[in-house]
Amino acid sequence: MSRSGMSRRTLLAGAGAGAVTAVIGWNTATTAWATEADTADGADVARLPALDGTVTLQGDGLERFSTDFGHLVTATPRAVLRPGSVRDVQQLVAFARRHRIPVAVNGQSGDLAQLGEAGLESHSSYGQANPRGGIAIDARGLSKVVSVRPGRAVVEAGATWAQVTEAGLAAGWVPPVLTDYLHLTVGGTLSVGGIGGGVQRHGMQVDNVLELDVVTGTGELVTASPTRNRELFEAVLAGGGQVGVIVRVTLALVRVRERAHVFSLHYDDLDAYLADQQKVMAERRFDLQVGDVVRSEDGTRWRYKAELVAFADAGQAVDRAALLAGLGPVRTEVVEQSWREYAFRVDGFAGYLRAAGFWALPKPWLSVFLPASTARAFMARAAEVLTAADLGAGLLLFYPYERSKVQAPLAVLPEQEVGWHFDLLAFPGPGADTAAMLERNRRLYDLAVELGGKRYLIGAVPGMTQADWRRHYGGLWERVVQAKRRFDPAGILTPGQGIHVS
Ligand SMILES: Cc1cc2nc3c(=O)[nH]c(=O)nc-3n(C[C@H](O)[C@H](O)[C@H](O)COP(=O)(O)OP(=O)(O)OC[C@H]3O[C@@H](n4cnc5c(N)ncnc54)[C@H](O)[C@@H]3O)c2cc1C
Repeated sequence: MSRSGMSRRTLLAGAGAGAVTAVIGWNTATTAWATEADTADGADVARLPALDGTVTLQGDGLERFSTDFGHLVTATPRAVLRPGSVRDVQQLVAFARRHRIPVAVNGQSGDLAQLGEAGLESHSSYGQANPRGGIAIDARGLSKVVSVRPGRAVVEAGATWAQVTEAGLAAGWVPPVLTDYLHLTVGGTLSVGGIGGGVQRHGMQVDNVLELDVVTGTGELVTASPTRNRELFEAVLAGGGQVGVIVRVTLALVRVRERAHVFSLHYDDLDAYLADQQKVMAERRFDLQVGDVVRSEDGTRWRYKAELVAFADAGQAVDRAALLAGLGPVRTEVVEQSWREYAFRVDGFAGYLRAAGFWALPKPWLSVFLPASTARAFMARAAEVLTAADLGAGLLLFYPYERSKVQAPLAVLPEQEVGWHFDLLAFPGPGADTAAMLERNRRLYDLAVELGGKRYLIGAVPGMTQADWRRHYGGLWERVVQAKRRFDPAGILTPGQGIHVS
């Protein structure tokens, strides 16, 4: 579609098929889309800006953006912009600002080859990307990998980590920290933090960004980095989309090592698991370190599994005995894979969850960080509370990180240097009591806070109040509020996070 002529298809609104009327703009009095009839009535109609991309105002094109991966929050947007250019984002945000229309980016992502465009979705679990009756920006409109060079890649924010990884691999360079599932957008995970097994060495994904292009809430396009417009840079990374729309990112890359030696260490005992994971991290034995809590085979109790990965060049041996020295698992397995196989390891499981119907059901995820001193107490309580049905076909990740590796100020973590990431990636079966699970999430969140913990911006924590957010940000709260005022003065960006809504 050209800037001069928006197609009629994209600018139709009305009661449904056969009863559509051409939209010409925004009726500022009724705060609704306006048709010719409004102008005849003398209403003040603000014309929509001319755009390179498309705007959808009705039908499936809106319905697809009404919910997300979590299937817990539903609200149909007024419009969806599929931007054809950065300029479109600027124009639309400026228009929305003038008319006080909420706007949020929807990180339409997923395994495009497997699912096609119709299968893409926002991977938020609790409406974080929902514009609450405002305008959704379809991140797929700006999703190209622009360039890959030694040490850095330039990508549009709607590109997925899978795209970045594939393009990087072809050149021998890859992101130092990847999420477990790669079909998430760069802009989406940078807006929340982006944690993975590389956190112990490289921090979060937000700690590996060299530069950002951001459209602020005034529609201005700003380039930000640690040395240029730093206030904006730091307000955007892990900022929950509150101060701007990320449109382009320069990411740091590291040279790929071709082989991944994956060690699975099984534990019956929580204390032994905690001690070994922290020992491995303190001694920097492995390149990647994650771990999860699994149900015992007889289904009666929880067990623990550390997943530790040593990268090596092709043909290079790793000293398994040295890597495992002094650790006390009850059982150990080691497999060798290509780096790529390991990076895309979740795809098969995701395929299973879809085929078995779990993916489409409500998923009350809970993701928190605990200080090392109370992680055991939290985990022990969670182990009492959680049942096999709570987890369903999902996972419960539980692994340590070092706080000093995470530099982005808004990636809020507990005070202590060592902390634990607790990540309940629940895929409950049909008929699960979702309301009860959400209440459980709230109780576990409150317990985490009591124990000095912090939430991750992903997940479903019901009833977050302004007081909860103030407590979450602690000494950073004033800075968060100031940044919101400065960069999003009309307060239109990303209401679904609930941070600035009482
Ligand atoms: C199967 C699965 C596995 C996951 N694994 C991990 C993991 O290993 N590590 C991890 O950290 N997370 C993980 N996540 C969570 C993931 O980080 C969140 O789902 C996150 O929301 C990213 O998803 P998205 O790209 O679909 O963005 P969305 O969920 O659509 O967006 C996230 C938030 O950022 C905002 N936003 C999105 N794009 C932009 C932009 N360009 N500019 C400004 N704001 C924007 C949105 O409005 C929303 O508020 C996983 C999620 C799933 C479903």
